[in-house]
Amino acid sequence: MMKPKIVIGNWKMNKDFEEAEDLISTIEDELADFQLQTEVVLCPPAIYAELVTDHASEEGSNFYAGLQNVSEYENGAYTGEISAEMQASMDVSFCIVGHSERRKYFGETDEIVLKKMHRLLANDIVPVMCCGETLEERKAGKHFEIVEKQIESTICTLTPEELERVMIAYEPIWAIGTGETATPEQAQEMLAFIRSLIEKKFGTQLAVFTYILYGGSCNAKNALELFSQPDVDGGLIGGASLKADEFIKIIEAAETVIKDN
Ligand code: PEP
Repeated sequence: MMKPKIVIGNWKMNKDFEEAEDLISTIEDELADFQLQTEVVLCPPAIYAELVTDHASEEGSNFYAGLQNVSEYENGAYTGEISAEMQASMDVSFCIVGHSERRKYFGETDEIVLKKMHRLLANDIVPVMCCGETLEERKAGKHFEIVEKQIESTICTLTPEELERVMIAYEPIWAIGTGETATPEQAQEMLAFIRSLIEKKFGTQLAVFTYILYGGSCNAKNALELFSQPDVDGGLIGGASLKADEFIKIIEAAETVIKDN
């Protein structure tokens, strides 16, 4: 039997308070009608953490609360930062780390990504670790090498018990926010490769168990085909998670794949 899919919405730095409230309640209402097998996570900007955790904890709500970033440090004198301890105290369940935008604009290295993962794990929050290559790297045929390096220096340093509580999102940078999606074959090929790296280090059982998602211009039109690939355990959705109807259609695509298998 196929394991449940995961669909994670990454709002990035979008929506004012009223819009955020409206989007969360609309998604909550729409999902309330489903007997969902897909796990849904909403990651709004951190300032709306209470909004999303309040809704996620309501009876009958069908989604989890996530955020997009966390400090690499424990509580202390780090002005402007938000710690994993604070997130845990608000019942945040998931947190994205190492998104390519954070790597590019905020200097997030694999070393920092790993520190953040440890902070989240210590606070029982699931890190969703992003990896992926640039267009130049793909054109130069270096995409496997780049992703292998990112996985080796983060995921492969974890203990098996830690890996069990981590998810990976492969997001080719050339596909993020560009409207250019990786083909289902390209997504499958890279996700199978990542799984093989995990298998080499941790064994088959853990490799099969590990959630590996695809992200990069995934939308209502292409989700079904992407999610039908054997190694694609779901999606990290940026732009298309900002509209309730589009995001719901993506969740429906995940449900269709589970039901057909
Ligand atoms: C993302 O930023 O995680 C992402 C996948 O963005 P988009 O879906 O807009 O390409």
